Order: sequence, then structure tokens, then C-alpha cells
Amino acid sequence: GPRVGVLALQGDFREHAHLLARLGAHVSLVRRPEELATVDGLVIPGGESTVMDKLSRAYGLAEPLKRAIAGGLPVYGTCAGLIMLADTILDAIAGQQTLGGLDVVVRRNAFGSQNQSFETDLDIPALGDEPVHAVFIRGPVVESVGPAATPLAALPDGRVVAVEQGNLLGTSFHPEITGEYRFHEYFLGTVRNRTLNG
Ligand code: GLN
Repeated sequence: GPRVGVLALQGDFREHAHLLARLGAHVSLVRRPEELATVDGLVIPGGESTVMDKLSRAYGLAEPLKRAIAGGLPVYGTCAGLIMLADTILDAIAGQQTLGGLDVVVRRNAFGSQNQSFETDLDIPALGDEPVHAVFIRGPVVESVGPAATPLAALPDGRVVAVEQGNLLGTSFHPEITGEYRFHEYFLGTVRNRTLNG
């Protein structure tokens, strides 16, 4: 299967690794630049974007990650991972940086303290007829989608919660904890295409 890394600095990287392995990927955990260099695709998990940001810079991974993204590496980010991929974030902590790549503005913790976690079903035509059961855990919302990015899913009130742009994919919610495998399958398709086409 395709060689897929999961960024394992912090967060629910094990859930992603198990799901990807079940789908036939050759999975490795990525904590160092040498490990990043061996993969054909990368998942950035849910967790805490402020911590992932600090650790990625402390471990010398932030610049290699930015170069890999600019070079077309397929990357899928869930929740904190989506925040890491966003070009612009709102409600960041002081000094917080992102890797960027997705032409979107994302607001952290957008659902507020009253309702930090909820579940809902989303219609996502790109993934087929069955709705996606989406779990939000202090998730971000995509407040605006720039011309380079495409929304894939929105809440009934119109707020965008999944986007893609070329080889990059991001969701505000966590398919890796609900047994929803279609996003990962879709992502593995992107990885396979890129590997085949050079
Ligand atoms: N609130 C977290 C952040 O800002 C994201 C939460 C999650 O990944 N479940 O990074």
C-alpha cells in the first residue's frame, strides 16, 4: 500500500494510524524530518494546534513540513490538523503559527464553551449517498474559503466544515473516531494518484 505518515507530536494520531492501516496503507509515525522524508502522504491529527505548532518548530519539523506541502505532498488534517493547514487563523494564541497551504480563514474553538462538542450528520456528495456522521470536539469552523480552495461540506446553517485544495484536505470534525473511513479512502486515492503520476 501507499506509504502514509501520521504526524505524531500530539493528539489522536493512533486512531488515524489504525484506520489507515485497516485501509491497506503502509503507516508510519512522523516526529522527525527524516521520517517525513520517507512518506508519500501525511495525516495531521486532531488534538491541540497550539501544542503541535510549538512542538513542530521545536523539533525542526515546521520548515520541512512547509516545504513538503509546497512541493505537493498530499496532507489530510482533522480539527487541529485543519488549523495547522490553514493560511489564516482567528482566535489563535499569541505567536501561534500554522504551516499553511489551504487558502482559508479558520476560527479556532468556533463552537464556544457552551457547546464544544456535538455530533451531526452531513451530506457530502463527493463521498457518496450515505451521510457522514461528524463528531466535533472543540472544533474550528472555516470562516472563509479563498479562491484556491473548495468547500466540501457545510453545516445546515451554511458554516463550512470540510475543504480541499489540490492535494490538501481538511475537516473540522473527526472521522477517525467514528468508523467513518471515506475521507481516509479519498485521501489514499490522492496519495496513490500522485505516486503513480510522479
Ligand atoms: N481546539 C483545538 C485547537 O484549537 C482543536 C480540537 C481538536 O482537534 N479536537 O487546536
